[in-house]
Amino acid sequence: MKFHMPVKVYCERDCVKTYSDEWTSLGHKALIVTGRSSAKNGALADVTDSLNAHQISYCIFDHTEENPSIEMVMQVRDMGIRENVDFVIGIGGGSPMDAAKAIALMIYHKDKDADYLYQQGDSTALPIVEVPTTCGTGSEVTPISVLTIHAKRTKSSIPHRIFPQYALVDGKYLASAPKKILVNTSVDSLGHLIESYINLGASPFSRMISEYGMALWKDVKPALLSDHVTDEDRDRMMLTSTLAGMAITHAGTTLPHGLSYFLTYEMHIPHGQAVGYFQPGYVAAAAPETQAKVLELIGCKDIAEFANLIHTLLGPLEIAPDMVDTAIKGIMANERKLKPVPYEVTEETLRKFFEMAM
Ligand code: NAP
Ligand code: FE
Repeated sequence: MKFHMPVKVYCERDCVKTYSDEWTSLGHKALIVTGRSSAKNGALADVTDSLNAHQISYCIFDHTEENPSIEMVMQVRDMGIRENVDFVIGIGGGSPMDAAKAIALMIYHKDKDADYLYQQGDSTALPIVEVPTTCGTGSEVTPISVLTIHAKRTKSSIPHRIFPQYALVDGKYLASAPKKILVNTSVDSLGHLIESYINLGASPFSRMISEYGMALWKDVKPALLSDHVTDEDRDRMMLTSTLAGMAITHAGTTLPHGLSYFLTYEMHIPHGQAVGYFQPGYVAAAAPETQAKVLELIGCKDIAEFANLIHTLLGPLEIAPDMVDTAIKGIMANERKLKPVPYEVTEETLRKFFEMAM
C-alpha cells in the first residue's frame, strides 16, 4: 500500500503572501499561466506583489482557454523558452493549473515536439506553484493534466505524472466566482470523492480522505442550494476540493469522468456539470452497503434524493439519443476508466446513468 503526496500545501487565508519567502525561491524567473479575467480578483496581484517583493522577475500568459488544448500548451511553451523562465505558476481553475503542468514539462524537454505529451518517458518538469480560484479540480495537489486533443475530438489526461511543488489554497479567491461556477466545481469535487471511493484502487488512506471529504461536502450543500454563501462556506469548499484532489491522486476517476469528456467536447458542457450528471447512476450501481455509506456521508436518505439534489443543482441533461449511443460506445472501449469500477459494466448499466440524469 502506498501513499505519496509530495506537494507542500498551505491552505489558509492570505497564504500566497504569508509563505512567499518559500515559494518564490523556486527560481529566478516565473511564467505565470492564467485565464482571461478570473485571477484579476486579487490572486494575480497577490502573486505578482510577492514576486516583486522578492525581486523575482516574471512574464504572464493570461489567455488560457477552458479545457486547454495541446496547441495552446505548445504556444505557451515557446513563450516560456523565449523568456528563459525556470519555474511556472498556474493561477485559476483546473484549466490554467493543468496547462501549467504540461507547459512546465515541455519547457524542461525543449527538444521534444507535441507528441511527447502523450508518450511515456521522463516526466521531469520545471518546478510548479498552483493557486486555485475554483473549488473543483484539486489540480493543485494532483499529478494530472487533462488536455483537449482536437484530432481525436476528446480530452484525455497526459501519461506524465507531474506534481506541483506548492499548492497555495485560499478560499478568498472564490469570492468573485458566480454561483454557477461554485456549484459546477463543487459538484466536480463531489465526483472526485465518489469515484475515488467506489474504486478498486481505493486504499484505507484514500478512503479516509474520500470519507472526510464527503462529510465536508455535506456541510457545503446548504450554501450551494441557497443564495447566501459565507466566507466560511468558501473556505470549506476549497478544502473539500483539495482533499478530493488528494483522493483522485491515489485512486483516480472512473466512468462519470470518462463520459463527461464526450459531453464537454461535443456539447460544450462545463466539466463539473458534465461529471455531476452521472454521479447518481454511478452510486446506484454500487453494492448496497457502499451505496448506503456514500449516501449517509453526503446526507441523502436514498438514491432518489441524491438524483433530485443533482437535478436541482444542475438541471436535467438534454441529449439526443444518438449522442447517448456514441458516448456509451466510447466509454465501453475506454479500458482505463472501466478497470477501476468494482462492478460489472454493460451498455445497460450506462444507459441507466443517462436515464437518471435526464
Ligand atoms: P476552468 O475551465 O479552469 O474555468 C472555468 C471558468 O471559470 C473560466 O471562465 C474561468 O475564467 C472562470 N473562473 C475561474 N475562477 C474564477 C473565479 N474565482 N471567479 C470568477 N470566474 C472564475 O474550470 P474548472 O472547472 O476549475 O476546471 C476544469 C478543467 O480542469 C477541465 O479541463 C478538466 O478536465 C480539468 N480537471 C483536472 C483535474 C486534475 O486532476 N488535474 C481534475 C478534474 C478536472 P478565466 O477564463 O478568466 O480563468
Ligand atoms: Fe474532475
